[in-house]
Amino acid sequence: MFELEQVSKRFAGTQALQPLDLHVPEGRTTVLLGPSGCGKSTLLRLMNGLLRPDTGRVLFRGQPLRDEELLTVRQRMGYALQGGGLFPHLTAEGNATLMARYLKWSSERVHARLRELVELTRFPPDALGRYPGQLSGGQRQRVSLMRALMLDPDVLLLDEPLGALDPMIRYELQGDLRDIFSRLGKTVVLVTHDLGEGAFLGDQVVLMREGRIVQQGPLAELERAPADPFVTRFFQAQRLPVSGGHA
Ligand code: ADP
Ligand code: MG
Repeated sequence: MFELEQVSKRFAGTQALQPLDLHVPEGRTTVLLGPSGCGKSTLLRLMNGLLRPDTGRVLFRGQPLRDEELLTVRQRMGYALQGGGLFPHLTAEGNATLMARYLKWSSERVHARLRELVELTRFPPDALGRYPGQLSGGQRQRVSLMRALMLDPDVLLLDEPLGALDPMIRYELQGDLRDIFSRLGKTVVLVTHDLGEGAFLGDQVVLMREGRIVQQGPLAELERAPADPFVTRFFQAQRLPVSGGHA
């Protein structure tokens, strides 16, 4: 679905990503894992063209992302940014349906799609008229997910979708997310710094450190045959049994 070829990115004074190659398979969930500041969000934003690489290229379905097509291509990629990124002055419904209304969908079509997403994400329908400040953290994440799914994109890019939630809510939403991913069968790229969450939600993980990919593959493989002492340290630092369970 995505191919990154020798892609690198530098911000003033910081080499956020060293030149790296990455293949993101279609119809699977790929988890970008690694400590804060290692370049996960940067990598995600290079995939949907919000950032352009300094070197190398990003291919989406075999085609390079070209500036003149970015807006249309991005509509095929649902993106939930770190922290949710909801507009505070729009209601839950307003946030979820923003792009569809911008694209001049009929109101019947918008509402039919919204009903599907409310059911899929288990968002309470009577809270659709509330503003983000009047929603719980878990509800805000569900709105963010509805917004990312509104246009029925080919790809879902989710940046720490459960980052700021308390453990019980997080546990519940992890289960819901896994059900949603398996129901939809879409290509998902999910960023987390939580190993247990990555193990629970991902088919393959890409472990990063300081702008580099340290190792990628099924998590069990990283645990069994770590490519680098950092992999072992990362596992140990999370104090979790990784063998498949829900963290
Ligand atoms: P992660 O998502 O893994 O925490 P990021 O991709 O957000 O990491 O950041 C990688 C590095 O790039 C960090 O050192 C961060 O401070 C830096 N960085 C990210 N975005 C910007 C930006 N817009 N301007 C300057 N530095 C940035
Ligand atoms: Mg980040």
